[in-house]
Amino acid sequence: MNTVVLKFGGSSVSDNINLNIVAQKIIEFKKDNNVVCVVSAQGKTTDNLIKEAKELSAIPDEREMDALLSTGEQVSAAKLAILLNMLGYKAISLTGWQAGIFTNSDYQSSKVIDIDTSRIKKEVEDGKIVVVTGFQGIDEKSNITTLGRGGSDTTAVALAAALKAEHCYIFSDVDGVYTADPKSVKLAHKLGSISYEEMSYISGEGAKVLHDRCVELAERYNMPIITASTFNTNKGTRISTCMEDTVIKSIIKNDNILLVKINNIEEPYNLITKLLDESIKIGKYVIENNYTEFTINKSDRAKLEKMLDKKNYTVSIEVVTKISVVGSGISNHPEILKKIVNVFDDISKNILELDVSACKISILFSEIVDIKYLNELHDKCCCND
Ligand code: ADP
Ligand code: ASP
Ligand code: MG
Repeated sequence: MNTVVLKFGGSSVSDNINLNIVAQKIIEFKKDNNVVCVVSAQGKTTDNLIKEAKELSAIPDEREMDALLSTGEQVSAAKLAILLNMLGYKAISLTGWQAGIFTNSDYQSSKVIDIDTSRIKKEVEDGKIVVVTGFQGIDEKSNITTLGRGGSDTTAVALAAALKAEHCYIFSDVDGVYTADPKSVKLAHKLGSISYEEMSYISGEGAKVLHDRCVELAERYNMPIITASTFNTNKGTRISTCMEDTVIKSIIKNDNILLVKINNIEEPYNLITKLLDESIKIGKYVIENNYTEFTINKSDRAKLEKMLDKKNYTVSIEVVTKISVVGSGISNHPEILKKIVNVFDDISKNILELDVSACKISILFSEIVDIKYLNELHDKCCCND
C-alpha cells in the first residue's frame, strides 16, 4: 500500500470540532493508504507560549524555549490520536524524538539532519495511523529542538521523503497557493500547479502559506506537495517539477522586515559573521563610508539588540515593507517591470531599493505600504497576464 503524509496546521486542529473534521479527512485517506500525519500546535498556542516566556524573561534561554514550544504540538498530536482511537482506528502519537527526527542544535531554527524511520514503519506495519508532532526533533545531546516558525511543513516533507511517500499533503485554512494572499487581495485566484523553484521564492519572500525550507527539501527529494483545505474538498495546488505558461505566479507583501542602520561602525564586514553566528538571517547588506545598512526579520530583533554594542555606535531600526512579484523568467519581461513601476509612481519617494532577478522583482519601501497598492498591482499583473 502507498504511504501518504498529511500535515494539518494550527487552524485545522484549533478545537474539538476541527479535530473531528481532520479525523474524517484522515479516515478517508486510510481507506487506500498507510497514513502518517503531522500536526501543528492548536490555534495560537505557539504565540501564547512565546508571550508567556517573554513575561518571565525578555530574552529567554534558547534551549528552554524549544523545550517549551515543543509542548504545543504534543498536545494536538495526543488529542488527535485519542480521537482516532475513539472512532475505532488504531492510532499512536509520536513526538519528534520518538519519531527519530534528528536535528542540529540551532535552537528555534534547527535543521533536520537525519530521520530514523524504524519506529514509524513498525507502527504503520501494525496498521496504525501515526500522528507525529510537527516542528521539532532532538539534537545529538538529546536536547529538544524546534525548526522555526511554521516548521511543521518541513517536518511533513522531511518525513515524506524519508518514508518515500507518494505525496505530501499540506492541509490548512486555504485551499491552495494563490496569486496573492487571498485574505488581503480580493481578486487573488488559485494556481493549479507551480514549480518548486517558484514556490521557494514565494515562501522565501514571506508568504505564510508554506515554510520556505519545506519547499527546498521537496525539490531536493522530488517530493510533490499538494496544498489543500482541511475544510472543503476543492482541488488544491500541486507543487512539483511542472511548469505553467503564465509568467507571474504570485505577489507578496512582507511587513515583517526591519531596516537596521548603524553609523560609524568599525569593521562593518565582520558584523556579517557575527549576525550569522547568532542565526540572524540577513536580507540586503550595504556598506557605505560612514554607515552600514541591512535588513533582518522582525522576529530576530531581540537577538540583534542583545548582540549590538551600542556604546560604540548609533543604531536606528525601522519597520519597512518589501513587495515581491515572483515568476520564472520574469526578468525577460520588461513590460512587467513597467507595470510595477507605474503602480508605485505616487509613493516612489519611499522606494529604497529595486531588485530584479531571474525569478523575482522586489521593491523595498522605507515604510509600511497600504494594502490598496497590492490590490492594484495584482489587478495589473495577475488578472490579465
Ligand atoms: P497553517 O497554520 O495551516 O500552517 P498558515 O497560516 O501558515 O497555515 O498558512 C496559510 C495562510 O497563508 C492562509 O490563511 C493565507 O492567508 C496565507 N497566505 C499568504 N500568501 C498566500 C498565498 N499566496 N496563497 C495562499 N495563502 C497565502
Ligand atoms: N506551531 C509552530 C508555529 O506556530 C509550528 C507550525 O505551526 O508549523 O510556528
Ligand atoms: Mg504554516
